[in-house]
Amino acid sequence: MEKKYLIIGNWKMYKTPSQSTDLVNEIAQFKCPDKVKLGISPPFTNLCPISKALKNSSIVLGAQNMYCAKEGAFTGEISPQMLQDLNVHYVIIGHSERRSIFKESNALIHQKVKVAQDFQLIPILCVGETLEERQAGQEKAIVEEQISSALEGISSALVIAYEPVWAIGTGQTATPEIAQEMHGFIRNLLKEQFPKDGESIHILYGGSMKPNNAAELLRQADISGGLIGSASLVPKDFMAIAQSV
Ligand code: PEP
Repeated sequence: MEKKYLIIGNWKMYKTPSQSTDLVNEIAQFKCPDKVKLGISPPFTNLCPISKALKNSSIVLGAQNMYCAKEGAFTGEISPQMLQDLNVHYVIIGHSERRSIFKESNALIHQKVKVAQDFQLIPILCVGETLEERQAGQEKAIVEEQISSALEGISSALVIAYEPVWAIGTGQTATPEIAQEMHGFIRNLLKEQFPKDGESIHILYGGSMKPNNAAELLRQADISGGLIGSASLVPKDFMAIAQSV
């Protein structure tokens, strides 16, 4: 069976709503290979204009976070119902910046994954170890704990993104061998939990994926896409990554 890819841009806290439509229109002009599904995750304020701009496009929309309740007195938060209403398909959960800067725990991340699925959003669960954890030989234990805690009672309608924290925004990409080793480990965890679908769940690599290293990473057996930060803000680089499969 031909391998399918999922490439998602994480715009983080960049671009105003008016800047975002120009950017998305530029991205939409490029030809994307048929075996690649392309998505972008802009800031919340940009979801509405981008949802309109993407109306007749095959590019799918993602959000970068959500709160784990339908609605309520949660000042400053965004609900899965609000995302659903804007045709959002994916939601990034547990990005390392959420874990480290905003102190999101594995327990909160588990709740968010669960509630995302309750609202038919596909969670993109981010996992990954810090440099200190890798140097201490704990990378697999950390990733296993992040996955097993988040996936308790969860269905297979999800995506995993392996993002070693030491590679995010640093320009220091994991080698294809290091990335594949962890992706293979994650694949086995998924197959244990989902004997029927574990083989086909997307496992994305994230961490300084760029046009010059994407092809080799995406060629690895268990890497079926990318979560792309800074390169996704440069349309020609983002598309070069998608075209490198
Ligand atoms: C990310 O933020 O998910 C990411 C992978 O960022 P970058 O590509 O800039 O390392």
